[in-house]
Amino acid sequence: MNDTTVYQPDFLYTGGRFHEGRALHVGADGRVLAEGPVPSDARVVRLPGRALLPGLVNGHSHAFQRLIRGRTEYVASGHTADDFWSWREAMYRAAESLSPEDVYTASRQAFLEMLLAGITSVGEFHYLHHQTDGTPYADRNELALQVIRAARDVGLRMTLLRVGYARAGFRAPENPRQRRFIDGRVEDFLSATEALAQATRADALVNVGLAPHSVRAVTREWLAALASRRDMPVHMHVAEQPKEIEACLAEHGRRPVELLAELGLLGPHFTAVHAVHLSEAEVKLLGGAAVNVCACPSTERNLGDGVVPADALVGAGARVCFGSDSQATVDLLDEARQLEGHLRLWRLRRAVLDPGTGAVDGLAARLFDMATVQGARSLGLPTGTLAPRAPADFFTVDVNHPSLVGASPASLLSAVVFGAEKGAVREVAVAGRLVVREGQHPRAEETGRAFHALARRLYHD
Ligand code: ZN
Repeated sequence: MNDTTVYQPDFLYTGGRFHEGRALHVGADGRVLAEGPVPSDARVVRLPGRALLPGLVNGHSHAFQRLIRGRTEYVASGHTADDFWSWREAMYRAAESLSPEDVYTASRQAFLEMLLAGITSVGEFHYLHHQTDGTPYADRNELALQVIRAARDVGLRMTLLRVGYARAGFRAPENPRQRRFIDGRVEDFLSATEALAQATRADALVNVGLAPHSVRAVTREWLAALASRRDMPVHMHVAEQPKEIEACLAEHGRRPVELLAELGLLGPHFTAVHAVHLSEAEVKLLGGAAVNVCACPSTERNLGDGVVPADALVGAGARVCFGSDSQATVDLLDEARQLEGHLRLWRLRRAVLDPGTGAVDGLAARLFDMATVQGARSLGLPTGTLAPRAPADFFTVDVNHPSLVGASPASLLSAVVFGAEKGAVREVAVAGRLVVREGQHPRAEETGRAFHALARRLYHD
């Protein structure tokens, strides 16, 4: 028996467009093979009525925040308004009580939901490290390893971005709710991250990166120590809220991106998450260094952060990708259409991110590239395409699903990007292994049951 598996959908998306009558050949090592004649004894998986696309890459996630979905959508009594900072306190309340097993349970639910939405890789920006009183666990990476176990148990590929968190902020009093996040010294942060990379080296589905939390949470000395690190992806929350800009100006006399540029952190390995409040000069700095910008429109909208100026950033040379961040929703194609939608409301015109080639699917192809290829670039992963030797990470959609029916081959990509609902996702594969079939994940029920019990315990309801 030949150990090639051939996936035969009606439409296959490779090289930036859909092809009819082509199949995807996957080797026993879980990688895409060069196209060629189908061996007579190959295992053929027929996927009638399906379009097959490279798996979506979720560039920015805090998995445990799935626990606060729907729990913070009101103004607390005694307050006149709700904003990012009051939301953050609610999020910290959830974070402070979770045991290692709880972190696993919450993360597994979030990762399962991602797979069901066609996401095959995630960048998990992980900042819960220590016990509630701030004492490290016997293994400093105990909670990171729980998050990795959760991803592995449902079959999701991950870059674990281990967060470095040094302080509450510039001249900010200590916040006891941040004790679980804080590493005393930058050396502790770097050695823990290196130990994590070592511990996961044998796992082909796990990659590790560095994540200085934000210019609020780390000092200039920490950033300077990270400037020479080009061997791992580096992710950082950048310019999410106006207060962060004010504090950075007060402490450093320059805006966040100006500070990062001066210290030498910017480059193609660097991802600025959010990058909402930017000066024109900062847009040029990010573009000139070919950094990745991870937009998280559903969260940025939920938290009242603002809109990522993605048109200006792309024009300057930056690469844009997407993240589900707070898990307010988990739908990466919707993140793509929301970003474009927010820009239309802001710029008062349509098709703002269209590359201007005149192609009917030019805008959809650009947004899809951001949701796949650019996300993979940001996370340092070889995924995002179905080119030969790439890992066979893919998803299918049912072209007859109510949200897609009627699309022609030429309009199918636009239909998927602008209209597909999550229910249209049918098969999902990671490294050539089908983890979702017919829209079902085999561990969905037990995962949901454990998550339900945790949520009810956490909120005493
Ligand atoms: Zn975030």
